[in-house]
Amino acid sequence: MTELPLRADLVGERPYGAPTDDVPVRLNVNENPYPPPPPVVADLTAAVAAELVRLNRYPDREAAQLRDALAAYVGVASDQVWPANGSNEVMHQILGAFGGPGRTLVSFTPTYSMYPVYARDTNTAYATAPRAADHSIEPDIAAELIAGCAANVVVVASPNNPTGGLLDLDEVRYLHSLIASSGVLVVDEAYIEFEPGARSAVELLPQCPRLIVLRTLSKAWGMAGLRLGYAVTSPAIVDALRVVRLPYHLSALTQAAGVAALGHASTLLAPVADLVSERRLLQQWLADHGIPAADSSANFILIGPVRDSRRLFSDLRGRGVLVRETGGPGHLRVSIGTAEENEALRAALLDSGGWRT
Ligand code: PMP
Repeated sequence: MTELPLRADLVGERPYGAPTDDVPVRLNVNENPYPPPPPVVADLTAAVAAELVRLNRYPDREAAQLRDALAAYVGVASDQVWPANGSNEVMHQILGAFGGPGRTLVSFTPTYSMYPVYARDTNTAYATAPRAADHSIEPDIAAELIAGCAANVVVVASPNNPTGGLLDLDEVRYLHSLIASSGVLVVDEAYIEFEPGARSAVELLPQCPRLIVLRTLSKAWGMAGLRLGYAVTSPAIVDALRVVRLPYHLSALTQAAGVAALGHASTLLAPVADLVSERRLLQQWLADHGIPAADSSANFILIGPVRDSRRLFSDLRGRGVLVRETGGPGHLRVSIGTAEENEALRAALLDSGGWRT
């Protein structure tokens, strides 16, 4: 059998993705457990139906209406917003424009495991430094790493996945000052809505011209299936992303459903308050039971270090609760589900006792 003429760096690579076992309680991919309520479903159905009758035509390449709706939600101008199929695709476009051969993406581990994958796909080098024990980014280490490789793109998630902590705006300003002469800073705010009162890096856009804030409708909005994420940045950076996007990258159906969803912000975001109080409850419960866990500003909690996280993972799995093995040895990440799902997680943890051994 002849080998495929695959790029050498892709030989033996496997597609990225969390296991999607069919278990009763899935707390492994940080989804919002609440589906859209019927009036929202009805509105989205009508919006999509109106597009179906003109599907012979290509969609709006510039997604103007959707960008207007996103800009109104964020409080910026439409030419500062750029949507794509999930924030995953926006990040891919960012590396298409600012990464590539001979260029470097920098991040701080542990962090979102797709960052090295975007780098690999776009032939961008990937350089990382570990975070401090409290998961913060050490200023001197960041400065050394960014200068040492003349980074072209720095990406930091806030809240960070899987550790859950937020960056404060001074830290964002500092990272921007390190990169602004050679590249761009991406602050990935996929989970920002889960920390009431958190200050978004969007505030810094007027003073930070090389800043890109990434957002998504996949988490707090409960629309992971829609595949809609967006960048908020300068009009010049939006123009750069428009150069590398595929023509008509965002389907007419996604654009229509996105506009309709944004019209229901308060309804769709209402469950966030429940999820935040469930997170606090679980955080307290873990502390009360002596189970080590990081403080989280997101819809997940990183448990650990425990002695045998593999065993704990399979104990939970055996009890019908699927969580995620991520965050380094001895760690597991659990997403916040409904009150019943979180109760099932607590019962499975107690039953397993696996964090002790
Ligand atoms: N950024 C972070 C930090 C994430 O955890 C995720 C989802 N797991 C994403 C981005 C991707 O989100 P989207 O569904 O918008 O592509």
